[in-house]
Amino acid sequence: MSAAHAARERGASVLVLEKAPRAWSGGNSAFTAGAMRLVHDGIDDLRGILEDDERLERTDLEPYTAEEFRGDLRRLTLGRGDEAMARIVAEDSREAVRWLHGRGIRFRLMYERQAYEQDGRYRFWGGLAVGTVDGGKGLVAQHREAAERAGIEVRDGAPVTALVDGGVVAGGEVIRAGAVVLAAGGFESNPQMRAAYLGPNWDVAKVRGTPYNTGEVLRAALARGAQAYGHWSGCHAIQWDAGAPPTGDLELTNRYSRQSYPMGIVVNADGERFLDEGADFRNYTYAKYGAEVLRQPQGIAHQIFDAHTGSMLRTIDYEAPGATSVEADTLGELAERLGIDPARLERTVREFNAAVQDGEFDPTIKDGKGTDGLRPPKSNWALPIDQPPFTAFPVTCGITFTFGGLRVDERARVLDEAGAPLPGLFAAGELVGGLFFHNYPGGSGLTAGTVYGRRAGYAAADLVGSLPA
Ligand SMILES: Cc1cc2nc3c(=O)[nH]c(=O)nc-3n(C[C@H](O)[C@H](O)[C@H](O)COP(=O)(O)OP(=O)(O)OC[C@H]3O[C@@H](n4cnc5c(N)ncnc54)[C@H](O)[C@@H]3O)c2cc1C
Repeated sequence: MSAAHAARERGASVLVLEKAPRAWSGGNSAFTAGAMRLVHDGIDDLRGILEDDERLERTDLEPYTAEEFRGDLRRLTLGRGDEAMARIVAEDSREAVRWLHGRGIRFRLMYERQAYEQDGRYRFWGGLAVGTVDGGKGLVAQHREAAERAGIEVRDGAPVTALVDGGVVAGGEVIRAGAVVLAAGGFESNPQMRAAYLGPNWDVAKVRGTPYNTGEVLRAALARGAQAYGHWSGCHAIQWDAGAPPTGDLELTNRYSRQSYPMGIVVNADGERFLDEGADFRNYTYAKYGAEVLRQPQGIAHQIFDAHTGSMLRTIDYEAPGATSVEADTLGELAERLGIDPARLERTVREFNAAVQDGEFDPTIKDGKGTDGLRPPKSNWALPIDQPPFTAFPVTCGITFTFGGLRVDERARVLDEAGAPLPGLFAAGELVGGLFFHNYPGGSGLTAGTVYGRRAGYAAADLVGSLPA
């Protein structure tokens, strides 16, 4: 949609082909929380794009610089992410989000997800604060309204099945165009491709979002000589309600997410911890922990909280209708109800509690209140689990999107194996590879899609404008 708006702005006539029927249109974008990571100088810099909110006066929000954004991308991708792409996304992010606002997309601060209230003030953490009004559904609805206003035609139920010279095949019809922007998502909703590229058992992972991103457009581009780029065996995957349906639910969308694990511990079906719940702020670890869960026996795990931290869970998700949970007054009873050996779970929690170090617990900073001598450690926010009632939330791996994709240049032109642009072909969003490896800073996907989509739309319109009539 960003590509469509940008191309239309430059005077092109634009047709958007959407595979899904209207109710499912908008792909993964519709399933998001609408969180967008962008560079800003703090609250005053953002006021121009934010809806009125009386809490703004009581909000502490640190600036987030382009260097920090690039640093987060570099750190989380273990230095493997394409530096030039990271620079483009970071440096364009502020302008791109303002531009979206100018098209009619509405923004707010995400108090319920990214801030804690302390002494009457809201403190944001993790370099992420801005989200769309009404989350992903709002984002897509606002995009569609903006498209209608701008005279962009959107055709639902029109799957692209092949690319041809100067156009595409959709619904059996050849559609000619001066330029084509590919933005059909990754291959996360295709179990066979997941198993083939991500590895064993990825076919049984749950899909968090749209069932329509099945990779055929990606494959069609590769078949025409596009260069594969990025982390093809990598993906974004999180801890997701073990009872969630196999693919995304239009009503509950993102609410099967289980993101408050830094407030508790996570154990596998053998009752053993296997990851550092407090390694970093949630939005710097969540995207790689789905894979950790998939590697555990039965591909499941249990997040465990006690009365201390049970009240700090993100209620929007943990109290969603039908959320899978188990509560008990003793750990032994909890274990039995989860099908875990009670003695093993009790030992895990006993050892954990004994390793918790003194210090002040503060969820708004990396408080260093960790464990000593445990493997794996809990590096921050470690509180003993000893106050009944105990609550467990069974989780499995929910895949969000795949990291491998096509190679594009700074104008979002699709490159061939030799690094030359394929005539008339542009790409944006999940279908582009190179930005993300191993892990991902929360809120970067929508921003990357907007930044590259906008560049693709401008470049496509410029190309069309330069063609003989
Ligand atoms: C539950 C969930 C929560 C998320 N939360 C966030 C968040 O808060 N912030 C964030 O930055 N990112 C988030 N993400 C990631 C984010 O969704 C993606 O990074 C971003 O939406 C990708 O945009 P896209 O346009 O590439 O893909 P999509 O939004 O998935 O769009 C792809 C479109 O292509 C269509 N399509 C597929 N195949 C074809 C075909 N053959 N022909 C025609 N059309 C086709 C699909 O139907 C879809 O409309 C989340 C993802 C999920 C699943």
